[in-house]
Amino acid sequence: MRSGRSRQSKWMLFPRLLGRMILLVLFFCCGFLLYNLAQGQFWPFEGQGVMPYSVDKAKDGRDSAGGSGEEKEGGGDEEAWQLILVNKWNPMPEDYQVELTELSNGQSVDSRIYPSLQKMFDDARSQGIYPTVASGYRTARKQKELMDEKIGAYEAEGCTRAEATRKAKKWVAVPGTSEHQLGLGVDINADGVHSKGKEVYDWLERNGYRYGFIHRYPEDKTEVTGISNEPWHYRYVGEKAAKEIRRRGVCLEEYLEEDGDSAGEKK
Ligand SMILES: [Zn+2]
Repeated sequence: MRSGRSRQSKWMLFPRLLGRMILLVLFFCCGFLLYNLAQGQFWPFEGQGVMPYSVDKAKDGRDSAGGSGEEKEGGGDEEAWQLILVNKWNPMPEDYQVELTELSNGQSVDSRIYPSLQKMFDDARSQGIYPTVASGYRTARKQKELMDEKIGAYEAEGCTRAEATRKAKKWVAVPGTSEHQLGLGVDINADGVHSKGKEVYDWLERNGYRYGFIHRYPEDKTEVTGISNEPWHYRYVGEKAAKEIRRRGVCLEEYLEEDGDSAGEKK
């Protein structure tokens, strides 16, 4: 009898404890949801892939709006770095980090664009066109050396320092504003043995976009890009953006601008 009673009282305690625990859990859940609602996100994990850094939500939005049907793993995260805008008005972030892959000729590029670059070169060669990367990634110091050289060359032609500097800036980006420092810009020339420059430039103009590369400084966009026509300078932006840029006949600045407050604000 006695053991029966004590067992009964234990069983009476259990539901009361359980009830308190459920209340506590509900309390935390409500708090969590309210907090996220206040932050403007209904579901707090939306859009967060496996990448540790913050998600570029704008890109996700454009993906669905564009409706190109091309889904790549990672979605918005994958694109953010591809569309970084660096020009004379938008210097690169000071803490920008690049992981490089060295090419056989000693030049290097951002490791993420290497497979596309290699594929482009392989395909070009299979069609009898022989390109080579004349200049890939550059350090800020290298960029400054190039600028100094260019200014020196104009001075040697009789320009004043100010004049020489102004002219040089049309061809060479001020350190901190060059896509070469991102590792995403490459100067592509002919190998000088099997192909001539123009053959390579023409092939790139026709085919570069298929591999995610755009002719970055076209003749008719110098006002917008701030750089003179450079048929050799190609910039990786990803296949989707490259196709769209070509279809619309715009340059990267205009492409980002047209996409309004989504990509345009991203640096
Ligand atoms: Zn270049």
